[in-house]
Amino acid sequence: MSAILSLRHVETYYGRVQALRGISLDVEQGSITAILGGNGAGKTTILNTIAGLLDDQPEKGTVHLGGERIESLETEQIIARGIGYVPEGRQIFAELTVKENLDVGGFRRSASESREDLQWIHSIFPVLEERRKQLAGTLSGGEQQMLAIGRALMTRPRLLMMDEPSLGLSPLLVDRMFDVVSEVGRRGVTVLLVEQNARKALEIAGFAYVVEDGRVVASGSPEELQQNEDVREFYLGLKGDQSIAEAQRWKRKKRWR
Ligand code: ATP
Repeated sequence: MSAILSLRHVETYYGRVQALRGISLDVEQGSITAILGGNGAGKTTILNTIAGLLDDQPEKGTVHLGGERIESLETEQIIARGIGYVPEGRQIFAELTVKENLDVGGFRRSASESREDLQWIHSIFPVLEERRKQLAGTLSGGEQQMLAIGRALMTRPRLLMMDEPSLGLSPLLVDRMFDVVSEVGRRGVTVLLVEQNARKALEIAGFAYVVEDGRVVASGSPEELQQNEDVREFYLGLKGDQSIAEAQRWKRKKRWR
């Protein structure tokens, strides 16, 4: 396996405040890679730095996409090189129809490519075909998130970055959203997923990084991270040798009583 995206010693500042303190990570081609961590750890800043959304940042370090250095490029150039980004909070065009939202995503593609892309996206998200004429603002939260992902996929990205796609969804829809991300991965799209829901993310990711205070404090396969005492306790809420399945059973029991 080879890395499609590599960050080395990336340092990002907001004014004089340092948010990333030397982040190094790799995203293997064809993988779902997760970035986990609590509030304010720096997860969103990592994605915004990769996408070139922060003026004159990163201050230090390198970002390689498919072997090419991209840390000094403009966002538009970075997107054109094959990064799709679904930021937190969906950000769809509420006053446009579902189909029009998807057309916006595919504006760089030829008409025939766009038709193919649309068919591909409808095969992943049949609901977007059913609701193609509906105004996007009238979709449910989960459907809006699918539309945001569908729109980012219209550029046929080599790498899809998603920031907390399950945020604000009901528990049932959270499960559905993780299924969707997993399906996108199965369709051959490399995914970099930012999540606070470490437990769910580790069910679908092949590899994960745990970030705290702008640093990577742990990394590994889901199995490795689940065996790491600190990760278990701080991010998965598990203690001792309690397994994830046991903890889930215990939590369910607790709720029922
Ligand atoms: P969350 O899950 O809460 O979004 P996060 O892990 O994505 O957290 P970031 O949003 O990347 O964290 O924030 C990292 C640090 O940078 C935090 O200390 C945050 O307060 C700070 N920060 C983020 N955005 C800005 C900004 N625009 N100006 C100044 N500081 C910021």
